[in-house]
Amino acid sequence: MTKHRIALIPGDGIGTEVVPAARRVLEAVGARHGLRWEFTEFDWSCRRYLSQGAMMPEDGLERLREHDAILLGAVGYPGVPDHVSLWGLLIPIRRAFRQYVNLRPIRVFHGVPSPVRGAAPGEVDFVVVRENVEGEYSEIGGRMNRGFPDEMAVQEAVFTRAGVTRVVDYAFELATRRRGRLTSATKSNGIVHTMPFWDEVVAERAARYPTVSWDQEHIDALAAKFVLNPARFDVVVGSNLFGDILSDLAAAVAGSIGIAPSANLNPERTHPSMFEPVHGSAPDIAGRGIANPVGAIWSAAMMLDHLGHTRAAEDVTDALTAALADGAALTPDLGGSAGTKEATDHVLELMAAAA
Ligand code: ATP
Ligand code: MG
Repeated sequence: MTKHRIALIPGDGIGTEVVPAARRVLEAVGARHGLRWEFTEFDWSCRRYLSQGAMMPEDGLERLREHDAILLGAVGYPGVPDHVSLWGLLIPIRRAFRQYVNLRPIRVFHGVPSPVRGAAPGEVDFVVVRENVEGEYSEIGGRMNRGFPDEMAVQEAVFTRAGVTRVVDYAFELATRRRGRLTSATKSNGIVHTMPFWDEVVAERAARYPTVSWDQEHIDALAAKFVLNPARFDVVVGSNLFGDILSDLAAAVAGSIGIAPSANLNPERTHPSMFEPVHGSAPDIAGRGIANPVGAIWSAAMMLDHLGHTRAAEDVTDALTAALADGAALTPDLGGSAGTKEATDHVLELMAAAA
């Protein structure tokens, strides 16, 4: 029996519906693979912010540190500005736990129609590697002369050699384990300091990965290619901002934001990594039991993989793939009529049947 301590942060809205679904799957797959889970649930959320003035308690990071991994649903609430949940919970966790890689796999599944004509099921299968702790999302800058005609705002982006190197290395290593192709997102024609620096580091590191064929694309052209020819990509690496935009675009190409998973990884495993579906709290459908649990369940599979349980992770993704293909697990966002519970039940049935 391998024991793992997992922190669950369901958060707000449909986060509180999809995290229990993912937990059921973890319990089932754990029973089969000799894994024992010790779950601790935290109520950190925008609801907590509204009643207590903070997304999480002061010793929140200390408490999380004792876990092997974190599974998060979504945070967000009507009337609470996005920067509160971002800077009050997500960014502190990512930075304190050195989760400098944000991994977002994209697949077009059989049974899930893509809005993109050329995106054939089974052929689109790539990963966006987003730099997760530095770059464009910095607090450095300021506003001057508020309200006057000469008002101005300055926002600095911070790219460090160490920070770019480690995420680029992660992406190249991932490419060696996949189909050996890497694309780097840049904009060095318009952004003349940070992006040429990014490009230089990518070219330098590329020399160490002779089996990977790589190229770089300006972000504007790359975005167009995500839509026109998504099957050509294997691993795509980008800065914090570019990676953010590309991964939401890619999730849309895959058919629904409800199926997209993500991992905030600390590759050295000195701190817990955090796994979360890409979607938000979706207040428009919260509380109705119709949220698509696939993004959360797939995120849990990424957690299994990160914890070293590759076979268990594959059992989950195989069951997800089959459940989407036969149509019985399709929630309304995918054109089906299953609720969160029926979709999860079906994934569990297929997993049990495959045993
Ligand atoms: P937040 O402020 O937390 O980001 P949001 O309103 O931006 O919330 P998202 O979760 O990003 O909501 O969702 C955008 C749209 O996609 C919503 O209309 C929502 O209903 C839909 N959606 C998102 N996730 C799911 C899901 N898991 N299942 C079904 N529909 C979803
Ligand atoms: Mg949102």
